[in-house]
Parts: sequence; C-alpha cells; structure tokens
Amino acid sequence: MAAEEDVRLEVEAVQAVYGADCIVIRDFPPHVSVHIRPRTAEDSSQQFVEVILGIKASKQYPSTPPRVYIVEAKGLDESRQTYLITIIQSKALELSSCLMLVALCEEAVEVLSNMNHPEGNCPLCLYPLVAKDKTGSSLPFMKLMSCYHCFHSECIIRFWKWVQEERESKATETATATNLESTRDQQKGNCPVCRKVFDEKDIEHAHEYLEPDTSCMASPLYGESFSLVLGFD
Ligand SMILES: [Zn+2]
Ligand SMILES: [Zn+2]
Repeated sequence: MAAEEDVRLEVEAVQAVYGADCIVIRDFPPHVSVHIRPRTAEDSSQQFVEVILGIKASKQYPSTPPRVYIVEAKGLDESRQTYLITIIQSKALELSSCLMLVALCEEAVEVLSNMNHPEGNCPLCLYPLVAKDKTGSSLPFMKLMSCYHCFHSECIIRFWKWVQEERESKATETATATNLESTRDQQKGNCPVCRKVFDEKDIEHAHEYLEPDTSCMASPLYGESFSLVLGFD
C-alpha cells in the first residue's frame, strides 16, 4: 500500500495537471472535484458536453478504489452520465492498489471526447439535431452556453420571438409602471428545457447566420444540408 506521503503527492499532481479546474476538498484521504472537458474544448463552439467529477477516497486508498460521482453535468442525459461513471469505476477497479487519480481524470476526458456531440432530437421540433448517417442533411443548430441544451437555430429563434411577443403583450396590459423592469428583463430568456436563464446574445449570432432567410423558415424535414454548428463564448 502506498504511503500517505505518496498519496499527498498524487493530489498535488492532479492540481498541477488540472490547475484551476481542480478543487481539493481534502488532501488526505483525497477528496477532489475536477472540471473535465472533452479534448476539442479549446474551440468552445465544438464543445457539447462537460462534467464536474467528484472523486472521494478512503484511508484504504489506493487498495480500495475511490468513489467517483458527478457533481454537475452539461449536455449529458442520465444514461450518458451513468455510462461515464460506469467506465470510470471499472477503470478504478482495474487500477486497484495503484495511485490512479490522474488516470481516472484522463479516462473521463477520453469518454467525454467520444461523447462530444449533442444527443437526440431538437427539444422544440423533435427532429434529430444531427443526421444519423453522415450523408443525411441536417439543419444548423446551436447550444445555449448556460446549460448546453441544443436546438436548431431556427427553432430557438422562433421560440425567442414568441417569448418577446408574449412580453410585449403583457407589457401593454400592465402599462407604463413596470416598463423599466421589463426592458431590463428583455435581454434574458429561460431555456425551454431546463429553465436556466440564458442571455439574448446567446442566440443573437444564430440570427445573424440565418438572415436574410428567416422569412421562409424551412421545415427540418426538407432543410438544406448545412452542417455548420453555431456556438458562442
Ligand atoms: Zn428543431
Ligand atoms: Zn437548458
């Protein structure tokens, strides 16, 4: 079994590798949280998943593998979260009795890199975000930076316009007293899936991209074959 000193050094190594992305909750026995991103994450428009992993070891570490859990995840539904944890736990078993904190984080980066694509259908129109076979056509889509939920650019813009119209009609009902407040709120919206607040500038770029074509919004079924992905920092 590794000495306590070795384990402490290993925690320092994780800190050295992950820098500000690593938070040491306790250095012995180790309990850390690490912000993990897929490998393409230097280009934030190409990043669709990320996770904050908690790794908590006992005094028996490393002969007993640490517990790995998800603190926060973006862009991963429950089944993909479970998959990620299962892979890391089995890696931990495989590495039993070796110091493994860095290796587990690297494994997580690997899994996330393979899962770095938006999943499933556009929540607004229920058509796929990405065509299943590469030759199939797909519409441009974008993600909200606050939660990484993805939508067809057209769909989220349509949704945004609807939100604006609702606001305007409410504003005229409640007259001038609340005007100040409503202009301030105008820049914000809530994600139609998780209700997290997003900024208007999140979808502004999608607007720019789609114009001047927004007047004849194509149905996703007959959309042109754009593969451009819009994302913003
Ligand atoms: Zn859609
Ligand atoms: Zn969301």
